[in-house]
Amino acid sequence: MTLRGRTVCDGVAIGKAMVYRREDNIIKRYHIDSIEAEIERFDAARARAIGELEALYSRAVTDVGEESAEIFGIHSQMLDDPDYIESVKDIIANEMINAETAVGHTCDSFMQMFDSMESAYMRGRGADIKDISERIIKILEGRDSRAIRTDEPAIIFADDLTPSETVQLDRKMTLAFVTEGGTSNSHTAILARMMNIPAVIGVQGICAYSFDGRDVIVDGADGTVYIDPDAETLKKMRKKQHEYEMRRENLSHLIGKETITADGKKIELHANIGNIFDVDSVIANDAEGIGLFRSEFLYLESNSFPDEDEQFNVYREVLERMGKKRVVIRTFDIGADKRVGYLHMDNEKNPAMGIRAIRVCFEHKDWFKTQLRALYRASVYGRLALMFPLITSEWEIDEILEIIDAVKAELDSEGIKYSDNVELGCMIETPAAAIISDDLAKKLSFLSIGTNDLAQYSLAADRGNPRIGRYCDYRHKAVLRLIYTVVENAHKNGIPAGVCGEIAADLDLTRTLLALGADSLSASPGILLALRDKIRKTDIGAVRDEILKEILT
Ligand code: PEP
Ligand code: MG
Repeated sequence: MTLRGRTVCDGVAIGKAMVYRREDNIIKRYHIDSIEAEIERFDAARARAIGELEALYSRAVTDVGEESAEIFGIHSQMLDDPDYIESVKDIIANEMINAETAVGHTCDSFMQMFDSMESAYMRGRGADIKDISERIIKILEGRDSRAIRTDEPAIIFADDLTPSETVQLDRKMTLAFVTEGGTSNSHTAILARMMNIPAVIGVQGICAYSFDGRDVIVDGADGTVYIDPDAETLKKMRKKQHEYEMRRENLSHLIGKETITADGKKIELHANIGNIFDVDSVIANDAEGIGLFRSEFLYLESNSFPDEDEQFNVYREVLERMGKKRVVIRTFDIGADKRVGYLHMDNEKNPAMGIRAIRVCFEHKDWFKTQLRALYRASVYGRLALMFPLITSEWEIDEILEIIDAVKAELDSEGIKYSDNVELGCMIETPAAAIISDDLAKKLSFLSIGTNDLAQYSLAADRGNPRIGRYCDYRHKAVLRLIYTVVENAHKNGIPAGVCGEIAADLDLTRTLLALGADSLSASPGILLALRDKIRKTDIGAVRDEILKEILT
């Protein structure tokens, strides 16, 4: 069988399929014979859930302090709530159904009740009910964790993967992934590219089949997935895999070469990473620095808030490994599709437009300060630059600078050293930021254009919704003109502007970005040598006028 989807990260993978079905988490409903036995089963699961929460509370007190740990205390009290318990037991007794279903129904009706309340605080309690109910259901069903696990290298099939599911994939065991949903601009796709594993998305109907354990070939270059391939296809694809590897090897002569255009402009070629494990690939692909470290993945990978020391150790290691090369760490961009369960943030109606990224930092200054302290402490171990996500206004920069000053003053008073040369920049991911980039440039040392969000917000098109993929097009003239505005404004103020969104990895647009004046490109490590090749072959002077004319007029 041959299936087709959209390509996200090229390369050929050959292996066995492992299907991750979210339906596995659908509660199975069945009738019971003994009400008493079922209630006993529920009570035992509830007691075990309370035990788990108490253990989590103790661990969290040490890791994140009493205040943040309190949520586990609250959850454990909720499990003792007489109304909740009575509702579950009534459903078991009246309907003669299993405890999992009774907990699920109780959860739904409590959530509806909380959702209809005026107070944002009470509405937030709906998420807590969901959390505790899921914990009990998991125990009742004998499931330990929803993380995708495989003990032999496999090709993962899923309806879709959330960023936190993707981030928990065991890289050594994941040969490729194939999903029914997703868009090429979604964080899941970005992660596939950062992990450099072949991935094909938007493959219709895969959830209807049982592919588990079947032989599969994923051709990430043209978005084809072969199930139980015949000998001829296997031979052809082995050859293609070999050629792909050879092509990569052929680019290896560019290691150590300068990234300079044919007419002599030096372009900084940087890598995007999400994790300390990506640094090997950054070094292997000869990146000239790290242009975007998506620090939120530290939070997504963890089961609890990473404390200052944990964060410090990661930043320090990345800086040390990169030596004299510049490392741009973006402060955490949590929110929208990057949900961190244990942070218990409110459910918003329109999260991409809500409390996301820098807005979370302003709402939770303690989280932001913890990260900044870890970053500044690490700054003495390398060449650190910081940038801030989802900026829309100048006052945000002023407020960030004030918080940084307070953090530095704290470190001074504790006698902790930090570098005085940490460069500060911001991401340009909103039309507002692009339009006022002249003002932002006056307060900062560099601008970095995040075209994934810039396209989403300029074109009013959700970057994660496959149905409107053609609307969320980073090649749109509006996006390209905004890039031009930003670069011009940066240069007018004597600072560089680079591009770190996925457009930077699109080899068909390298000439365009260079013509628009980008000083740096930052992309997944796996594409960097091909980019260097393209840049070295581009004569900007020869193509600039024509490209600009096409975009600007
Ligand atoms: C972007 O928006 O282009 C960007 C680089 O940030 P992220 O993809 O992590 O939102
Ligand atoms: Mg972004």
